[in-house]
Amino acid sequence: MRIIVVGGGIAGLATALACARYGHEVTVLERDDTPMPADAEAAFAWERTGAPQVRHSHAFLARLRNLLRDRAPDVLDALLDAGATEIAFTEHLPPTLTDRLPRPGDDELVALACRRTTFEWVLQKLVLEEPGVELRHGIAAGTLDARSGPIPQVVGVDGARADLVVDARGPRSSSADWLTAIGAAPVREELHESGIVYFSRFYRVRDGVEAPPYVGPTAADLGYLKYAIFLGDNRTFSITYAIESHDEEMRRALAASAGFETVARSLVATAPWRVDGVSDPITGVHVMAGLRNRYRSLVDGDGSPLVHGFVAVGDAAVCTNPLYGRGCSLAFVHAFGLADALREHADDLDGSARAFAAFTERELVPWFRSAVLQDAQARALLEELPSEDPRAFMQAVFREGLLPAMRTSPVVFRAFLRWFNLLATPDALMADAEIVGEVLAAYEDRANRPGPPVLGPERESLILDLSVGEKGA
Ligand SMILES: Cc1cc2nc3c(=O)[nH]c(=O)nc-3n(C[C@H](O)[C@H](O)[C@H](O)COP(=O)(O)OP(=O)(O)OC[C@H]3O[C@@H](n4cnc5c(N)ncnc54)[C@H](O)[C@@H]3O)c2cc1C
Repeated sequence: MRIIVVGGGIAGLATALACARYGHEVTVLERDDTPMPADAEAAFAWERTGAPQVRHSHAFLARLRNLLRDRAPDVLDALLDAGATEIAFTEHLPPTLTDRLPRPGDDELVALACRRTTFEWVLQKLVLEEPGVELRHGIAAGTLDARSGPIPQVVGVDGARADLVVDARGPRSSSADWLTAIGAAPVREELHESGIVYFSRFYRVRDGVEAPPYVGPTAADLGYLKYAIFLGDNRTFSITYAIESHDEEMRRALAASAGFETVARSLVATAPWRVDGVSDPITGVHVMAGLRNRYRSLVDGDGSPLVHGFVAVGDAAVCTNPLYGRGCSLAFVHAFGLADALREHADDLDGSARAFAAFTERELVPWFRSAVLQDAQARALLEELPSEDPRAFMQAVFREGLLPAMRTSPVVFRAFLRWFNLLATPDALMADAEIVGEVLAAYEDRANRPGPPVLGPERESLILDLSVGEKGA
């Protein structure tokens, strides 16, 4: 089959790889002019205006690492050769977990530490080596070519012929507009703005200096500020903050390097990495807003395609709040799901489109719904709910049951990590009687333990530090 993939980000490249390995002929059109650089450092300097999120921290979850291990081990090997590392979570147990015995399944709980640009560079290199793949940079696909009919049949893009066109144009894809232009029925879209802004900065640990230990909390939610530290490849790491987009005061402070650093030095998880002499910044502060959860379905309520010869993968189809670190893992799952659907329904584009839509509903959409729900819960946590509000009890169980149980129970700790890494279903945590029992036991015991660890300052005190810093500058 001849396939044109529009967009050469993570989903587009993964689709090209997976489909080419099943014998399809694939052309990838990528708008950014990013010819292959010589190494990961040159890729870090790539001009990627088409995917500005590459300037932000990326977690590559265990689901993605395991998928590569099982279905594209050469990609995993090449990433490790390029300087990425594996993070085996159970080798970084929090000190509060006294039962440190290994458990079955620990070998699945392994994520990848890598800069997003390094990941894309390695992937692109392997895709280019794949027989049957052509990658054309600096080409912005403009319009779909289609034969009209009750259900339009897409036959190519901008005059180039294809049996299947794959939209991999990322979170800003406008596939709904494309389909309207060829007369397809309206696309169903669900959109939920996250209401947060991201701030990221990258660093490198100095030569000859040992990186601080990667144990204990590496991320925390202080309410007014969420933060995390991400290990990268080749001695790099990055720090990311997320705040509510209406918090103008914090927004102004974090966008400036001095403010960003003041905050980094005041947070428990990031401070050791920014002590004098440990690391140096290798970028300025990157800021990104407009982050959202969005799902676009290209089938009608009965699962019938709105259009033949056209599908969407990755963020173009299902986009989730980056806070949860799911996008690249889901993009890979989606790409391999598409290749499988095409193989199982060879020469039957309608059958493969239906199978792919069902796969999307089963494997990706529950994570989209989970992200929407998590966003709503996170917003509720910022409110002081009256005790009669049923959400108030759930908040209390989360704060005084789940979080402490994760610190002390090897079962809850692993269950949470399996869920976070997409190795369980979105409802797995609270559907497991053993987990619920442990969480409720921790909640019942709340009066008998000290308060939660302090992971950063109160907002007022941080704002004060920031204003002192500003005056001193
Ligand atoms: C701030 C931020 C942080 C994130 N952090 C994480 C994380 O920690 N972990 C994680 O897994 N995910 C994370 N994500 C999500 C992740 O970046 C996306 O899920 C992922 O990039 C999706 O891949 P994609 O290929 O669908 O889209 P993209 O990577 O955006 O690629 C789309 C490509 O299409 C190209 N394109 C667009 N229009 C055209 C056109 N007309 N013709 C040709 N090419 C075109 C663009 O140039 C771009 O290269 C984050 C996202 C953001 C915004």
